[in-house]
Amino acid sequence: MSTHPFSETYAEARSKFLSAAESAGAAVQAHLHPERGPDGGVLATDCAWIGPADARSVLVMVSGTHGIEGYCGSGAQIDWLQRGEAAQLGPDRAALLIHALNPYGFAWARRVTHENVDLNRNFVDFARPLPVNRDYDTLAAAVKPADWNEASQTAARLALGAFAQAHGFRAMAQAVSGGQYAHADGLFYGGAAPTWSRITLETLFRERLSRAEEIGIIDYHTGLGPEGYAEPIIAAAPGTPEFDRAIRWHGRAARSHVGGESVSAEIAGDWLAAAPQLAPQARVTGIALEYGTVDANRVLEALMADNWLHAHGDPQGPLARQIKAQIRAAFYVDSDLWRGMVLGQSLCAVRQALGGLGRP
Ligand SMILES: [Zn+2]
Repeated sequence: MSTHPFSETYAEARSKFLSAAESAGAAVQAHLHPERGPDGGVLATDCAWIGPADARSVLVMVSGTHGIEGYCGSGAQIDWLQRGEAAQLGPDRAALLIHALNPYGFAWARRVTHENVDLNRNFVDFARPLPVNRDYDTLAAAVKPADWNEASQTAARLALGAFAQAHGFRAMAQAVSGGQYAHADGLFYGGAAPTWSRITLETLFRERLSRAEEIGIIDYHTGLGPEGYAEPIIAAAPGTPEFDRAIRWHGRAARSHVGGESVSAEIAGDWLAAAPQLAPQARVTGIALEYGTVDANRVLEALMADNWLHAHGDPQGPLARQIKAQIRAAFYVDSDLWRGMVLGQSLCAVRQALGGLGRP
């Protein structure tokens, strides 16, 4: 018997995922997170493996890289398990479903990790000089005010608006969301060291994927682009074999975040770009599936509010309820139409990846 694949809380998502994985005959393993959820509950990145342990080709589906965005990806993973799609894997193939890569952010309704780090800016070499983002520096004070009130929100809007007017909206989005390594309590912070979630993912690649010759990845995201539409985003630059292969698998609608054609800013330190180094023996073809939710300004305001709440406010105080509802609405559209679009496009992307695995 199947239940609704989407959930209202992290704990519900975790329990549904584990039972769907068990029903699908998966081998399940939990990686426990050091922190607890707002309800005091356990946090974990859970993995489900279906198929032979030494499969030559592996499909990897990941939810919750960006915490709160996990409501979408978790629903897609659970739906895939419940539909019995694993029966289509075929011989010498396996599926690895990684549920809640950033379980802290999922449970606390944050996009970032407990280290206040954007996991997709964290996969950089910290022994080398870190990327510099001077444009963020000029906006840093405006996007992270000490108080969160009418006046500070208006000031933030004006500062971002002025930057967008002078340089274009895209340049403003690049400045704020491209990633920065200088403001530890700011937005889109890449960190000063590998986060728990990065270390966990590296461990998973080492333990589970070091024998695979071919790996296809779908990493679920929300918050950018038109409502309900999923853009397949490729980490590799146009003109590379990795980019061409991802286009062959997922079609011309796929976009690289390099070059300005994607809904995403150009970023450094995303895990998909690092994946080929995590599995150097394999041919890796990955996409982020980025589902649109609400207007970009609303998403940014929700992120600023949440960042303030955790930097200066009380994450369980009186303002928290409103801000947590605001950030959830920015990354998950609570409608059957949107959920249906999530599942339909996910199913399509997974079948495309399975069609591509093992082909030139
Ligand atoms: Zn994301």
